[in-house]
Order: sequence, then structure tokens, then C-alpha cells
Amino acid sequence: MKHICYIVAMQAEAQPFIEEYNMEEIPGFFAPYPFRLYQTSIGGCRLSVVLNGQQHGTDLVGCEAASITTMAALQRLTPDLVINSGTCGAFKADGAAIADVYIGNAVMFHDRRVPGDDQWGTQALGNYPLWQNSESLAAELGFKMGKVTTGSSLDMQPIDEEIIRRNGGQLKDMEAAAIAFVCSLAHVPLLLVKSVTDLCDGGEKTYDEFCRNLSAASHALRGANQRIVKHLTGKN
Ligand code: SAH
Repeated sequence: MKHICYIVAMQAEAQPFIEEYNMEEIPGFFAPYPFRLYQTSIGGCRLSVVLNGQQHGTDLVGCEAASITTMAALQRLTPDLVINSGTCGAFKADGAAIADVYIGNAVMFHDRRVPGDDQWGTQALGNYPLWQNSESLAAELGFKMGKVTTGSSLDMQPIDEEIIRRNGGQLKDMEAAAIAFVCSLAHVPLLLVKSVTDLCDGGEKTYDEFCRNLSAASHALRGANQRIVKHLTGKN
């Protein structure tokens, strides 16, 4: 593997990892877009972290930003593997706890409701392919696995919950399926690494719980990603 590219929505999610590896920012690489690039090299493997950057004074989260950032990163950096590392909501009923780290073993959208025949429903859900070695990596490194489910909102409306349950969604985020969509079009493998900031069935307000646990989940992501990078680059 010669080039691994992380796509991360929020600076806070990536910062512990960027600092751990002493990564250097390449200013203006994606100008005029606000995406930010950090790079380093590990044993002959280039490691990039691409952040969506900001608009309206906040980090760009969600599918639109994730899609265009991923497309730009694929075109400009031509990585061998994309890793989307980020936070998510999860379900107590599935045994999830705050700051647990999961590897995605499937990915779908839960808020694209397109009535019609089976093909339209299939396109709406997405169910994109992920890197074929995702499950063996998770097993070797001892990570839990789950199906990532993406939508454009932090909250979960009853219709979202219904679609998530019907389709086996477990890890609720706002970017993974959009990144998987672009990677699937370009035939670039994608690994999903998700850490839990909030419990969708925990009864607490998601935003408060997310804010309280963002730092713990981001530090858990750093530890997990260090182990993943070591595993991947050790196999060079
Ligand atoms: N208002 C927050 C915005 C963060 S949005 C802030 O300013 O800090 C939440 C981010 O974390 C998204 O990038 C999403 O991928 C992830 N996330 C964490 N928990 C989530 C949940 N329960 N549902 C959807 N996305 C979640």
C-alpha cells in the first residue's frame, strides 16, 4: 500500500491523530475549496488526512461536503485506500457504549425515501461495497463491526428509525454512505472507522451527549487508527 487517505468531517475528530503523527498541513492544496490536507510518510507509505474545512464558522459535516471532498481527494491524491474515520450514534440495544470503536461491515442511507420499483429503492438505500479486507482487519485487531447508516440530520425522526431498523443499521452518522458512494463510482476501496459519541436509544438529547463525548470518542479514534495504520503499513 503506497498511499492511505483519511477523510474526516470535523477537525476535532482528526486532531489527536494529526498530532500523534506530527502531520504537516499543506496550505491551500484544494483552493478555492476549504478542504484541508495534512500529510506524513510512514515506512514508505504516504498518509494523508483530508478534512472538509469550514463554512458559516463551523466544520462542514454531512453528505454534500463529504461527497465533494472525497471526489477532490480521489482525483488529486489517487490513494490506494480511503479510510473514513469519524463519530457516530449507536444503539444500547446492540451493546454499544460511548467511545467504542467499530469497523463498518456495510453502509447505507436511511433518509432517502424514493418510492417506486425495486431499483429506485435500491439506489436510495445505497448499500455500497466496502474494502474487502474490512472484516478480517476488524477480527485481527479485535474491533467490533457494524452496519453504518448515513443521513443528513443529527436527530433521528421516527421514519429514520423505522428504515434503520428495517435495514439493520447500527452506526448512525452523516458522511459514510456519501463517501462510499463516490469511492464505489471510482472503484477505490473504503474502510470505515467509527467511534460512538451518543446512544440513539439512550433517552438523552443527542446534541448534548455528542458534545460531551466528542473528545473521548476522538481520542478513541486516534488509538484505533494508530493500530490500523501500523497494521496496514507493516504489511508493505
Ligand atoms: N453541532 C455539532 C455538529 C456535529 S454533527 C457541532 O458543532 O459539534 C455530528 C457529526 O458527528 C457528524 O459529522 C456525524 O457524522 C457524527 N455523528 C455523531 N453522532 C451522530 C448521530 N447520532 N447521528 C448522526 N451523526 C452523528
